[in-house]
Amino acid sequence: MAWWNDLGLAEPVPAMAAIGIVAFTTTRGAGSFALGSAEPSDAIWSRWLALAGALSPHAPRLAFAHQVHGATVVTHRPGWNGILRVPDADGHLSLETPTAMAVTLADCVPVFIGHPSGAASVVHSGWQGTAARITEKAVHRMSAAGLDPADLVVHCGPSICGQCYEVGPEVYQKLTGQVTAYATPVDLRALIAESAQRAGVKEVSVSIACTRHHNDRFFSHRTGDIGRQLAVIVAHPQVTSPR
Ligand SMILES: [Zn+2]
Repeated sequence: MAWWNDLGLAEPVPAMAAIGIVAFTTTRGAGSFALGSAEPSDAIWSRWLALAGALSPHAPRLAFAHQVHGATVVTHRPGWNGILRVPDADGHLSLETPTAMAVTLADCVPVFIGHPSGAASVVHSGWQGTAARITEKAVHRMSAAGLDPADLVVHCGPSICGQCYEVGPEVYQKLTGQVTAYATPVDLRALIAESAQRAGVKEVSVSIACTRHHNDRFFSHRTGDIGRQLAVIVAHPQVTSPR
């Protein structure tokens, strides 16, 4: 994916590169990937197809989902190539076979999870996914497959920062368990990092990029953008399970 990074169309994830996993978040310059927006779908699809083509040396397939702010993490298994849009999910995981996986975003947190074996996951975590602990769910799924959480690397990518995001008392209580009477700032990435550490992950990093502070570079729903960037991770598990 060097050319995306070289052209400034994506923000790479150094923590994933360090364990040999391709991962990045696209920028405004790469265009929107939001199917179902006002932009003509052929323009959007052309970007998806270009992305799948660019990723094909790494993985012959690209999965994404109709996202619903839930906590469903889809485990992708061998048996298909091309582009797959799964219904109603907010996370992707591949433990067995090379698979590029993407979530669409414009303020919510893209959470990248990688293992030195090449197994990987990416999840979309807004306040609902964070309250539903979707990141921990993905970590537990990887742990159940025999990967030690202490060996996992977690990175929270560009998203709205704690200074730019506040929530009402009900949401704040769902996220933190604490009672407040007023709208209160919340740092979703800090909450996700803490939850990953509770799940046993030792290496957790957070991007300095905020979709609102850096709105020239990233789409931000709260700033009024209808476009969506993508967070992409390419799993390339080295050990294929017997079938
Ligand atoms: Zn900010």
